Amino acid sequence: MKLQTRIVHAGQEPDPGTGAIMPPIYMTSTYVQEEPGIAPSGYEYTRASNPNFTIVENLLASLESGHFATIFSSGLGGLTAIVSSLNPGDGVVALQGVYGGTFRLFNSVFSRFGIKFSQVTPDKLEEALKQKPKYLLFETPTNPLLDIYDIEAFSKLAHKYGVEVIVDNTFATPFNQNPFEFGADHVWHSTTKYLGGHSDVIGGVVITNSHEMKQKLDFARKALGLNPSPFDAWLVNRGIKTLGARMRLHNENALKVAEYLSKHPKVAKVYYPGLSQHPQAHVAKKQMRGFSGIVSAEFNLSLEETKKLVSSFTLFALAESLGGVESLVCHPASMTHASIPPEVRKEIGLSDGLIRFSVGIEDADDLIDDLKVSLENRVPHPQTMSV
Ligand SMILES: *Cc1c(COP(=O)(O)O)cnc(C)c1O
Repeated sequence: MKLQTRIVHAGQEPDPGTGAIMPPIYMTSTYVQEEPGIAPSGYEYTRASNPNFTIVENLLASLESGHFATIFSSGLGGLTAIVSSLNPGDGVVALQGVYGGTFRLFNSVFSRFGIKFSQVTPDKLEEALKQKPKYLLFETPTNPLLDIYDIEAFSKLAHKYGVEVIVDNTFATPFNQNPFEFGADHVWHSTTKYLGGHSDVIGGVVITNSHEMKQKLDFARKALGLNPSPFDAWLVNRGIKTLGARMRLHNENALKVAEYLSKHPKVAKVYYPGLSQHPQAHVAKKQMRGFSGIVSAEFNLSLEETKKLVSSFTLFALAESLGGVESLVCHPASMTHASIPPEVRKEIGLSDGLIRFSVGIEDADDLIDDLKVSLENRVPHPQTMSV
């Protein structure tokens, strides 16, 4: 079946008891057993599993064309599950540009348990792989600079050294990119973002073709208490039904915003993998079907001026996170990446004038009008202001 049909139907069956076309929310902690240790449904306790988990796991596995999925209480819960199966002395190597929470989980938590973590630029990767880490982890596109990493090339290189590859596919979503097609071993998402899609739930998932990994993930969820609530699993399942419709609009609107910004005199540089001037546009084209809704732009503005600009929009709400139907704007230097010292920020290309837009599914004309009002001191279009 084609992806758009799987988005609507994979893993979804009418409720066996009532015929309800949408799954009920199984708000239960436990399940009645026939005899001690014999649970006819296969479920015993919701920390281990729940029918709402199974439904959305089957859906997510199908969307990534993977065999198994395990969902978690958050994206970072999923990463915790992966890393908790490692032993002291084991290493994880990441390509530069991982999510701040990923960096913090390794450096402030797992480092104390003897897990080695390093972040390298692509030119230093082969040397790092020679140390035989357990995993190579990377995001593509990255946050907030939208760098694109060649999944096929980096997977090939990692496999040469027996290293398994985990791709954080949160920004692209399975609508735009399937890392398994290019050799990744495990795919990780924060379902909080585009998969949930409505900024109303926190969740995560790891998808794998390895039965051994699936068992490790399920064990970690049960042993560490990384389970979501059945309601949250239901919300993610519900959100995904419109993934295709939403992502088409995110892709379309973001390209329009990126094109508008790239022609604007106050903008020094636009970061969007769908623009032909993106340095890895050819790689993006190879591995992505669309380029998603995140656009970053560097403005010729001071720190104070940039802070003023991000607070001045009407439709772009100033908030962390991304991937919801509504547009958001964020100033990495003072928000998501504030804990990084200014010198380091500069070194990795994160200037004070950098702004990240999560372009929503509103009408693109209204979104661009909102930008124009702030950037060009224009009078707002009356309809933009009357929402
Ligand atoms: C948000 C995010 C995460 C973490 O997910 P949570 O659901 O917030 O725990 C990981 N990776 C990326 C790329 C993200 O955007």
